[in-house]
Amino acid sequence: MKLYLVKYGEITLKGKNRRYFENKLLSNIRSRIEPFGAELDFYQGRIFVRSDDDRIIPVLQDTFGLVEICPAVQLPLEMEALREAALEQMAALTAGRQMSFKVETRRSNKGFALDSPAINRDIGGYVLKNLPHVRVDVHEPDIRLEIEVREQIYLYAKTYPAVRGIPYGTAGKSVVLMSGGIDSPVAAFNMARRGVEIVPLHFHAMPFTSEMALDKVRKLVRRLSDYTGWLYFYHLNLSQAQIKLREACDERYFTILQRRLMTRLATLLAEDKHALSLTTGENLAQVASQTMEGIYCTNDATHLPIFRPLISLDKDDIVKQAKQIETFETSILPYEDCCTIFLPAKVATRPKLADVLAEEAKVDMARLIEDTWQTLVREKIEA
Ligand code: ATP
Ligand code: MG
Repeated sequence: MKLYLVKYGEITLKGKNRRYFENKLLSNIRSRIEPFGAELDFYQGRIFVRSDDDRIIPVLQDTFGLVEICPAVQLPLEMEALREAALEQMAALTAGRQMSFKVETRRSNKGFALDSPAINRDIGGYVLKNLPHVRVDVHEPDIRLEIEVREQIYLYAKTYPAVRGIPYGTAGKSVVLMSGGIDSPVAAFNMARRGVEIVPLHFHAMPFTSEMALDKVRKLVRRLSDYTGWLYFYHLNLSQAQIKLREACDERYFTILQRRLMTRLATLLAEDKHALSLTTGENLAQVASQTMEGIYCTNDATHLPIFRPLISLDKDDIVKQAKQIETFETSILPYEDCCTIFLPAKVATRPKLADVLAEEAKVDMARLIEDTWQTLVREKIEA
């Protein structure tokens, strides 16, 4: 079977809790690669995965906590074998092209006769002698030939970058308000990458919004599940509550009232699922719900912290990340959102909490929440 040396990042800094993070990371990897008949070993701070199915490479690349996936060859502790393997790799990677390289050795096995600089010189010299089209560049090499001398020797040159972050499920749980837009999937991804278990919640407004609009959000959640593993996706029908708000309240407050309602319902779900926070894709901009005043009025509707990981980002940067995590193409599909169908003509962009509360008092909020909660649907989403 092919061997992959899998490097992980930040959690090596976690001191006493390191074991906890490592164990979680290992069990996450195990459950993700199991369907591919892959094997996993862990010793001396390195993860070794063995598999003949190349599909595990993108799976490992999408695993939070991992930094790099290195297809490696495993060799006995002797220079002769290492020289030949190094030459073979360099010949394959350069394929006759003029390229530069550098040998980097880490020797944790102090019993091995040569030290790291001596191995670098030996292997570098041998490759140079046999491949006239390559040259050494220690600063910006095209190819880094890496050697790890442990209980065996591991050699690798080509690596695949992974998403980094913290192992999924080590940082608590958050209900993520998921629209079908560009921002919320990016917000969800960033929280998940910090180890937060996400509970995606969407509000639709059927029959005013279409099945296609809901399916778009489902698709976004499915893409997120490539990173997190299978997810429960929750949705609620907001249409009846929206109609009541529209009838009873000053339309300038509709947007903020709707956000307070969403926030309350999300809080109910959070309490039910033992999540200690909410997450949104909000970003400071001049729409009613995304001004400082709007955010203040929204926060008043819950006792939970609301995380807004995109609050200070430029739209360009959010779009860039949406493309990187491959949610962008789905997000820009032109289906209506529940927020846009009842869009008022006039909006109070700097709502005062006292005015908002006065408007809210015109409806039976407890009733709206209870009736909407009855529409809750849970779906299991798998990659
Ligand atoms: P997005 O691109 O995420 O839709 P946006 O810039 O369009 O964000 P808004 O429509 O004001 O901004 O929504 C702000 C946040 O409110 C969203 O990021 C999301 O977290 C939440 N939200 C909006 N609409 C919905 C919805 N229909 N269901 C669940 N959450 C929603
Ligand atoms: Mg939106």
